[in-house]
Amino acid sequence: MTEPDLYEVVNPATEEVITTVELGGAAETDAAVARARAAFDTWRRVAPADRARLLRAFAAAVDADREHLAALEVANAGHTIGNARWEAGNARDVIEYYAAAPERLFGRQIPVAGGLDVTFQEPLGVVGVIVPWNFPMPIAAWALAPALAAGNTVIVKPAELTPLTALRLGELALQAGIPEGVLQILPGRGTVVGQRFVTHPDVRKVVFTGSTRVGKEIMAGCAARVKPVTLELGGKSANIVFADADLARAAATAPYAVFDNAGQDCCARSRILVEASVHDEFMALLEPAVRGVRVGDPADEKTEMGPLISAAHRARVASYVPDAAAVAFRGTAPDGPGFWYPPTVLAPVRHDDPAFTEEIFGPVVAVVPFRDEEDAVRIANATEYGLSGSIWTRDVGRALRVSRAVEAGNLSVNSHSSVRYTTPFGGFKQSGLGRELGPDALDAFTQTKNVFISTEE
Ligand code: NAP
Ligand code: MG
Repeated sequence: MTEPDLYEVVNPATEEVITTVELGGAAETDAAVARARAAFDTWRRVAPADRARLLRAFAAAVDADREHLAALEVANAGHTIGNARWEAGNARDVIEYYAAAPERLFGRQIPVAGGLDVTFQEPLGVVGVIVPWNFPMPIAAWALAPALAAGNTVIVKPAELTPLTALRLGELALQAGIPEGVLQILPGRGTVVGQRFVTHPDVRKVVFTGSTRVGKEIMAGCAARVKPVTLELGGKSANIVFADADLARAAATAPYAVFDNAGQDCCARSRILVEASVHDEFMALLEPAVRGVRVGDPADEKTEMGPLISAAHRARVASYVPDAAAVAFRGTAPDGPGFWYPPTVLAPVRHDDPAFTEEIFGPVVAVVPFRDEEDAVRIANATEYGLSGSIWTRDVGRALRVSRAVEAGNLSVNSHSSVRYTTPFGGFKQSGLGRELGPDALDAFTQTKNVFISTEE
């Protein structure tokens, strides 16, 4: 017997070890795939109404466990209690939403000569889901719910740093009656468990959410096996504020569009573009809003921003703000244990500054002025990423023109919302491939089979 690979799970707000989790290796991954492959043969044949009922029972189990799941995420990821409750509720909602799918997985009947032609939406088989540490619950749910609904079996590999809520979701699925092997949670290293999802011939699809760098490796590995992938990757989204906007509201909400989850959000609006004529006025309104962000104990109901996920990640975030950086103003952060970093606003910033071009994934935002609509769109699109963004204006025509011109998958006008489980989510350019959530997510977990039945005598 080899020694188990044990991983100490740390509370990022206190730096205390919460628990120890055993990481799976290559042998455990292969065993999990074999179980998932065996379970697929029965799960795909479960009657649609029964699969729907089991998923609704799973959603109900998540609902009943919401406070517990939220507390786990506060402790494991440093999420504020308000956010963590929303995330547990989102996992429930996504499972419930796709519980309606098994009974609505329609094929088509296509007119042909000499017979009947019908299509079936067939499940793929075993789906491997690789989850990052920033939103462990929602990101796991967005993949596992439609995948299971379509008749696939699923193995989730949570991020090493944040396995606890995923493990709990796995327990809740079993409690709800989902058969053994249909949904498995396998903590492990990306380079071991995640990589095996890519190479194992019985894993028929990989869903990866994480960095663009690793996403490219996953896609290349899947290409060698013609294995479909969904990729949700990084972002460097623009919050574009026009002079005719409700400036007070735009400034009051801008901090939350980037500092929520301590900036560890692929949709973070980490570039604020402001029309030059109102730049100074906007900065004067932004300063008190940033200083007012409540940073501290994530378990406190009033807290708006918690710590970063790890010491290593904090060092990486801090590297974008060297001593010589033009810090316009900053919020506060606690002293003492915990991976704290204060909300930080950079201005003026050159357009080639790494803080303006690279994803920081922390509470750092850069503000730059623009001349006119064309200039705003040009700056917004001058990035390899294209995930989300916001447009603040009272001019409906302009809102639509700029929404169509910005190369990103998820835009909001006079709002910063990016995610609704009923609407599609995903990236343009190097922010990803494929769409999650919304009515079409089942397409990513099914393949079309065409059957022709002759009516010739
Ligand atoms: P990451 O290093 O890419 O890791 C993401 C996941 O992939 C983790 O579970 C990781 O396992 C695993 N992994 C790492 N190397 C792998 C490999 N060679 N093969 C297979 N799996 C591998 O990203 P992260 O640092 O956790 O998350 C931050 C990044 O994710 C940011 O760039 C952010 O924008 C992006 N993100 C995007 C979205 C979106 O929806 N577009 C959502 C969230 C995050 P380990 O835990 O062992 O490293
Ligand atoms: Mg990593």
